[in-house]
Amino acid sequence: MDCIYLDNNATTRPAPEVVAAMLPLLTDSYGNPSSLHAFGQSAQHAIEQAREQVANLIHALPREIVFTSGGTESDNLAILGTLAAYPTKKHIVTTAVEHSAVINTTERLEKQGYRVTYIGVDQQGRLDLDAFANALTDDTALASVMFANNETGVIFPIDKVAQIAAQRGVPLHVDAVQALGKLPIDVRTMPIALMSLSAHKIHGPKGVGALYIKRGARLRSMTIGGHQERDIRPGTENVAGIVGFGAAADLARHESPETQRRITALRDQLESGILERFDYSHVNGDRENRLGNTTNIGFESLEAEAILIALSEAGIAASSGAACSSGSLEPSHVLKAMKINERIAHGAVRLSLSRYTTQFEVSETLARIPSILERLAALSSALS
Ligand code: PLP
Repeated sequence: MDCIYLDNNATTRPAPEVVAAMLPLLTDSYGNPSSLHAFGQSAQHAIEQAREQVANLIHALPREIVFTSGGTESDNLAILGTLAAYPTKKHIVTTAVEHSAVINTTERLEKQGYRVTYIGVDQQGRLDLDAFANALTDDTALASVMFANNETGVIFPIDKVAQIAAQRGVPLHVDAVQALGKLPIDVRTMPIALMSLSAHKIHGPKGVGALYIKRGARLRSMTIGGHQERDIRPGTENVAGIVGFGAAADLARHESPETQRRITALRDQLESGILERFDYSHVNGDRENRLGNTTNIGFESLEAEAILIALSEAGIAASSGAACSSGSLEPSHVLKAMKINERIAHGAVRLSLSRYTTQFEVSETLARIPSILERLAALSSALS
């Protein structure tokens, strides 16, 4: 049975071009970029080329890109580094639906005495912009707002968020990990200070990412060591990973708009096929402003965990935002913030596509799903 991978918001398949670009750095070109000899200099050159490739994808200057170990580290560095640069300010504004790399950081900061305002969303996952504007004060060191949500794909109006933050003079950090490669991003037109990026969501390698730091933005390093990455992120660089990120960024930049349209059409076909077949299924999130590759579908009265296991047995890889806590599967903080009915939230499954998803895979998924769900529904009604 062929496996069908519909979990691209978790991670993506490394593009063959990415693997090919990385290989020389893992074999012959193994120099330390800080070394003055030819081995080192060729590694340093490869990093600078990748920096340009990543910068080009978001229209930044190469020196505004600092390589990190991924989206999580970029989020941490953005938040902690900004707070360290503004030591007298003790307030942070973020949203209730951020990735755990942001939320768990701000929750820890609350324990350390910071005040954090979590801006809510409506039932469609849309941000309350008025509440955001009203939350910003003279004491606010930083606002951190994601571009697109990893669970629902809902896109926030980052342009408007950035305008509001700029008017109040508050530096804005944007977690663009899920938006990168799926939406056009141009930092020249957005007054933002910082943006987190990750390679493995755009067909690059895991364990490498970047923080865009606008020229002039204030930030202190959180790692102490040598002088790599302009002292902001010391440590010998993950050269192969960085080169892979550069190659993935290049592929994303040159991807035709037709590819994104094709992915969206396949997602729509998958989604409507499921909604038509199961009248107890509902889409979670704003269908107008959503990443074209993502659908989050809640199956009323079913358990996400049971669905995912049954899907996996049928060769379909998907995910749910639910996290297992104290023995029971709790709906994710994102669906809770959206106040999704518990009976739907408990059965929420995320399907996320990529440029490698085929029409055959979508048709196969629609062919395999009915028997799985009918079996689970029968089981659930027998138990209730
Ligand atoms: N931010 C968002 C929105 C994400 O979806 C993820 C990964 O799922 C991260 C941050 C963390 O990125 P990484 O896996 O590179 O640490």
